[in-house]
Amino acid sequence: MRQALAGQGASRGLAIGRARLRIAHAIDTREQTIAHTEVEAEIARLHAAIAIARDELKALRDRLHGALAHELGEFLDIHALILDDPELLHGLDALVRTGHYGAEYALRLQRDRLVAVFDGMDDPYFRSRREDIEHVIGRVRAALHRGAGEPPVGFAGDILVTETVGPAELAQLQARGVAAIVTTAGSTLSHSAILARSLHMPLVVGAHDALISINDGDALMIDGSSGEVVREPDADDLRRYRAREAELQREHRDLQKLRNAHTRTRDGVDIRLYANAESREDVASAHALGAAGVGLYRTEFLFLQRPQLPDEDEQFRAYRDLVLGMNGRPVTIRTLDLGADKADGSGVVQPDEPNPALGLRGVRLSLARRSLFDTQLRAILRASGYGAIRILIPMVSRREEMVAVRTLVHEHARDLRTEGHEIADQFDIGAMIEVPAAALALASFIDQTDFVSVGTNDLMQYMLAADRDNEALSDLYSPLHPAFLRVLHEIIAVGIRHGLPVAVCGEMAGDIRFTRLLLALGLTDFSLHPSTLLEVRQIVRDADLARLRRQSRALLRARDRERIHAWLDESIALPSRPPRRRGD
Ligand code: PEP
Ligand code: MG
Repeated sequence: MRQALAGQGASRGLAIGRARLRIAHAIDTREQTIAHTEVEAEIARLHAAIAIARDELKALRDRLHGALAHELGEFLDIHALILDDPELLHGLDALVRTGHYGAEYALRLQRDRLVAVFDGMDDPYFRSRREDIEHVIGRVRAALHRGAGEPPVGFAGDILVTETVGPAELAQLQARGVAAIVTTAGSTLSHSAILARSLHMPLVVGAHDALISINDGDALMIDGSSGEVVREPDADDLRRYRAREAELQREHRDLQKLRNAHTRTRDGVDIRLYANAESREDVASAHALGAAGVGLYRTEFLFLQRPQLPDEDEQFRAYRDLVLGMNGRPVTIRTLDLGADKADGSGVVQPDEPNPALGLRGVRLSLARRSLFDTQLRAILRASGYGAIRILIPMVSRREEMVAVRTLVHEHARDLRTEGHEIADQFDIGAMIEVPAAALALASFIDQTDFVSVGTNDLMQYMLAADRDNEALSDLYSPLHPAFLRVLHEIIAVGIRHGLPVAVCGEMAGDIRFTRLLLALGLTDFSLHPSTLLEVRQIVRDADLARLRRQSRALLRARDRERIHAWLDESIALPSRPPRRRGD
């Protein structure tokens, strides 16, 4: 029977598909014992299933190509390693041999044992390894029930319904055919949501009852913009779905006319739209859409899902490809920002700390782990020989950090030149403003930064003391707070006073609900995911900037969310469509 569930739209797109439920601890085999005489045959059956799982992983690995091949390949390698782990294999044999358990039950016991070990650890790296264990055991279990040669059950076109989804597994799920994802927890600004948008994977988060109300195999319809989830859609839903699909295609066609058009307000002020790029596809779209450059390249995504750290050459090639992909437009490379929900696959970088969001993150980690930072800086500087590069430093909280980073960059530049590398004559080094202390003390290190980029995702979390991933706080975690707007306005004003370029690169910059608000606060540089670049461009072109800025006083006077919303509603009503301009 039809049932509608409400969630939050975290990555746009419509999808219809069968529901595939992923429930933690879903292997629920009851205790099952075998006779003494069956032991050897049962072990042989188990080993045959492990061999099938191994072959499947290898076949999957061989089929990979394209931009995600590298990332996904690392992931599959980890699974292959787990499958070959002697402890896992001996443990299984011992359970069958001495406990006389059937193969399925032995798998369950072994899975429970390993998962309990990982559950006892706080480290996000180990938490992500726990999921790998579940996947590997699940694969062996599926193979036990199939013979060799039978294809594994894929997700082709399915909609995964699960409690949470980690950034590290999204690409793999997509490669396995998952069409969309619904989670019961999670937030629209988590790194998983950011990556889902980058992969164009529709995602609805916070659909609380999804795992209770939806059954495996139900037909599902989801809208990744509105957050609507419909179980067993009826004829009206399907009509609505088709109409919405056609509307999206129309909008898409209209927006495509704005590729490479100016981003100029009605009153003639040029606004710069940079792209946040996480993949080669993003770089290609940024270029094709006429982005002013790349405003944020999150290098930590190079460090996820892999057993060892990328070395200088590997990083250099990634940064060089990025620069070449933008064909002369500037590229802003952010140095490593591991921490909180972004765990490095190698597990060797991050310390085990009780509160990683307030811990050794971003530049703090880079300065504490000098060899790691040295390698990265050298790779970035070497790529600067191929085109304009800006270096962006995450999680800056004080002047001393910028001084230390600048000194290091200049030392490395000198060494590289001595070694004969061709690198740029000079590089802009900028601070990310995402810690309230840096926002309030910006003037104190203004001479140490060539530009700033406001990381509103973190600035909001630290200013409002609201975890960006905690779905229970999703109402509080919003830029529409008077304190947040005032601080944002102040950062932009300090930039204007000192002639310092200020960009916003948090998700807010690509959210069309906030474009006019940011223009009113004086922002001229936006860095956003390419998927909304054309829509933001459209709003900028329709905007009367002088009028919006005059309205900013009313915005900054607003005392609560309701009044800020009222301001937003009025600002939408303000300008009408612009007259056609020449040359667009
Ligand atoms: C931010 O904090 O706004 C930001 C852009 O960085 P990240 O989302 O990667 O933490
Ligand atoms: Mg951040």
